[in-house]
Amino acid sequence: MKEIVPSPPPVIRNEQQAVQALFARHVVPSYGRFDLVFARGQGSRLWDVNGRSYLDLGGGIAVNCLGHAHPEVTAAMIEQSRTLVHVSNLYYTESQGRLAGQIVRHLAPGKVFFCNSGAEANEGLYKLARKSGHEEGRFEILTALNSFHGRTLAGIAATGQDKVKKGFEPMVSGFRHVPFNDLDAMRHAISPATVAILVEGIQGEGGVTPATPDYLLGLRRLCDEHKLLLLMDGVQCGHFRTGRFQSFQRILEGIPGGEGFLPDGISMAKSLGGGFPIGAFWLREPLGDLLSPGTHGTTYGGNPLGCAVALKIMEIIERDRLADNARLVGEHLKVGLEKLRQQFPSLIRAVRGLGFMLGVELAPDIPGLTVEGKTQAIVFAVKAQDAGLLVIPAGPNVFRLLPALNLTRAEADEGLSILGRLLSD
Ligand SMILES: *Cc1c(COP(=O)(O)O)cnc(C)c1O
Repeated sequence: MKEIVPSPPPVIRNEQQAVQALFARHVVPSYGRFDLVFARGQGSRLWDVNGRSYLDLGGGIAVNCLGHAHPEVTAAMIEQSRTLVHVSNLYYTESQGRLAGQIVRHLAPGKVFFCNSGAEANEGLYKLARKSGHEEGRFEILTALNSFHGRTLAGIAATGQDKVKKGFEPMVSGFRHVPFNDLDAMRHAISPATVAILVEGIQGEGGVTPATPDYLLGLRRLCDEHKLLLLMDGVQCGHFRTGRFQSFQRILEGIPGGEGFLPDGISMAKSLGGGFPIGAFWLREPLGDLLSPGTHGTTYGGNPLGCAVALKIMEIIERDRLADNARLVGEHLKVGLEKLRQQFPSLIRAVRGLGFMLGVELAPDIPGLTVEGKTQAIVFAVKAQDAGLLVIPAGPNVFRLLPALNLTRAEADEGLSILGRLLSD
């Protein structure tokens, strides 16, 4: 029917539909999005445009490490933006130097490069690896099956999952994948062209699978024997999420030989900026100096605003002992999830992870979760949303909890009770 009276502005008619209509018309549809439009957040709580609230245990995919709208982070952002936002890397600024110093302090002597995202941090590691092997003609990087390293062209080549590569062939050359946590497979894959090994300490997108202590120690030995760089992708599992700065530090706690373990390079992003886009990679001494002036760069990387925010976040995490909180409340959550697994063995197959990086593997073919064209993890996440809880799919049968590091025990219990209700339904 032809409308005679012009319709009122869409925002008044129905904000959710109006926003979704803008997306349908103007935003590249490269994401499978849930039917939720968020308006604001506070701590681990989010509100959609209809005023409904949600407990956020997804943390913006391990990004919102202090929750939403943390007042001290907001204040740091305002103060820095009143002073200096950006000058480019043609010049020095204090906060970039200080943030690099903080990252080095948590690892070991070395140097840090700043960029804007996880994929970009990994790109830097690939370039570093190629530069280190260039004179000997070595360039190949071995990665793990089910890994995830980002969506750039080299990132999808590095990622050990076919679904991210499909349609974008030919792949950037020089990457090969072997099964994760399988040292023999890695050893056999090494060729004269191999220059580096890249793994996540805990595979995130691949379904929340921690590396075993033996695997990490074995990779270090293998790399030393074959003069390879050991590179670790700490984008999701890093930044105190497991209870230590990097996941390998947690995995190797109390393991003989574990305290001396160090990779040669580590990529970071996600929680580093708590929502402000910033990425980084750390390189062990003296590797950092391989990237000499003119060899690598990015315009925004390490700008004063991003670094001020990241410094404030680090300060709060340490002051409020949030790594300990992630460890303790994470363990509490995990014990609660284990109880649910014992209560509902036909629904939950396994609970994995460390600290605030937890994955729940659903049993295959659960009748209530079978929807044509959708994975069980997605169907479960939608049911959780309907019950006021945000969780994140990781592969077809796993959902993840990646909450803010300041999540309280009461909030964790609230999440567990919603999950309990959902499972019994
Ligand atoms: C998210 C993620 C990336 C990519 O980070 P972006 O900021 O999305 O580019 C890389 N590696 C891992 C392990 C990740 O979880």
